[in-house]
Amino acid sequence: MSEHRSAIVIGGGLIGCSSAWYLQQHGWHVTVLERDRIGSGASHGNCGFVCPSHALPLSGPGVVTKTLPSLFKSDAALSIPWRFDPSLWKWLFRFSRECSTERMLRTAVARNALLASSMRLYREFMASERVECEWQDRGLLLVYKSKRDFDNYGATAELLQREFSIPSTPYVGEDVQRLESTLRTGMAGGWHFTGDAHVRPDRLMSGLRSAIERNGAEVREHVEVNSLRIESNRLTAVETSAGSMTADLVVLATGAEAPRFAKPLGCRIPIQPGKGYSLTMPPLRNQPRIPMIFEEHHVAVTPMDSAFRVGSTMEFTGYDRTLNRRRLALLRRSAAEHLSEPLPEVVDEEWSGWRPMVYDGLPCIDRAPAASNVIVAAGNGMIGLATAPATGKLVAELASEEQPHLDPAPYSLARFLR
Ligand SMILES: Cc1cc2nc3c(=O)[nH]c(=O)nc-3n(C[C@H](O)[C@H](O)[C@H](O)COP(=O)(O)OP(=O)(O)OC[C@H]3O[C@@H](n4cnc5c(N)ncnc54)[C@H](O)[C@@H]3O)c2cc1C
Repeated sequence: MSEHRSAIVIGGGLIGCSSAWYLQQHGWHVTVLERDRIGSGASHGNCGFVCPSHALPLSGPGVVTKTLPSLFKSDAALSIPWRFDPSLWKWLFRFSRECSTERMLRTAVARNALLASSMRLYREFMASERVECEWQDRGLLLVYKSKRDFDNYGATAELLQREFSIPSTPYVGEDVQRLESTLRTGMAGGWHFTGDAHVRPDRLMSGLRSAIERNGAEVREHVEVNSLRIESNRLTAVETSAGSMTADLVVLATGAEAPRFAKPLGCRIPIQPGKGYSLTMPPLRNQPRIPMIFEEHHVAVTPMDSAFRVGSTMEFTGYDRTLNRRRLALLRRSAAEHLSEPLPEVVDEEWSGWRPMVYDGLPCIDRAPAASNVIVAAGNGMIGLATAPATGKLVAELASEEQPHLDPAPYSLARFLR
C-alpha cells in the first residue's frame, strides 16, 4: 500500500536517520539530505548516554534563583555570555516560566514517555540490525563532592522512583569509591541509576547509516537545503545546493538549525543552540567502569571500549562554532578533581556541538501548519541520542497516519502559540 511513497529527510543526524529507518519500516522510500557528512552535527561527539534517568527537564523549581545568576559567569558549567539577541532573551523568559513543580512534572511525563519507549526500541533495533556501537548496560553514576548536595538529591531520586519507577541506589562516602574504584578518595557519595546504558555515538551513527542504506535509502552528503517551496498548503519543492527536489513527504530534522525554516512552515520553532564540548582520547590505563556525571560541575565521563570521553558544559553563544579553551579546561579540571588517573595532555579529538534546546525541554514532532506534507522533528535538547528511536517512530506513525505508539500532543507545534 505504501510502496510508492517517497520521503526526503533533511538532516543526517540521529533524529533524521532514526526517522529514515522507521519510515522505511512503514514502507517509505527515503532520501536523506545532509549538508556536511552523516552524523557530523551534535550526534557526533556527545556523551552517548541512553538515559531514562533524565526524565526531569532542566527547568524546575528554584532553577531561576539558583542557577540563572551563575550562568553569566564565564567559567560556569552553564553560561550565557552577555550579547544582544532578542530571540535568546525571549527563550530565557519562557524557560523561566517553565520552572514550577507542576510544569516540571508535566514535562517529565512526556520526556519519560520518549525515553522509556526509546530504550525498548533501541534493544529491538540493535537485535534486528546487529549494530556494533559498544553498547554497555552499566547504568549512570551521579557523583557528589558535597555531602549536602548528595543528601539533597535524595528527594529527586525518590520522586523519580515514585512517579516514573526509575530506580537508583545511593552509595555514601567511601562506598561510592568501592563501586567505582577510579574515583579519588573523599567523594561525599553517588546515586547509581542502574537502568541506563551507553554507546559510542559515532559508531551508533555509522550503524544507523548502514542500516538505512541496506534498506534502500539514498544518502546524499554535502547537499545543503537552502529553501522550501510551499504552494496551497503543500511543500512542492526542496531547493538545494544540488538542485530542486520533491517527494510526497519531507521531514525537517536539522537539529539546532531547524528555526531557519520555521517561517515558510507557518510555525514557531523556538530552538536555541546550547553549545557543549567533549574531549575524546584512547582508553585510560585505569579506565572507569561506569559512566559518571560529576554533579557539581555538570561534567560527564563516558568509558567506551575503544575510547574515553569527557564532555558537557552548556554555552548559549548563538550559532558559533569556536572552541572556547576555558570550556575545555573546565572539562580537564573536573576530571582531575574526581579521577585518580590524569588525562593525557594530547587527545584524539576536541569537539563542540549544538544541542537543539527548546525552553520547555521537549522536542517538536508534528506536522507543519503551512505544509501538510512536512513533519518537523527537532529540538531533542540534551537527550537526542536517548530519545531518537521513539522520535523517529512517531514521525513514521504521523506520516503514515497510523495510531501513534505514544500520545503526540506534548510535542505539538501548537503549544508555542499558547
Ligand atoms: C556535549 C554534548 C553531550 C551530549 N550528550 C548526550 C547524551 O549523553 N545523551 C543524549 O541523549 N544526548 C546527548 N546530547 C544531545 C544530542 O547530541 C542531541 O540532542 C542530538 O545529537 C540531536 O540530534 P539531531 O539529529 O537533532 O541534530 P544533529 O546531530 O545536529 O543533526 C542535524 C543535521 O542537520 C544538518 N543540517 C543542518 N542544516 C541543514 C541544511 N540546511 N541542509 C542539510 N542539512 C542540514 C547538520 O549538518 C546536521 O548533521 C549531547 C550533546 C552535546 C553537545
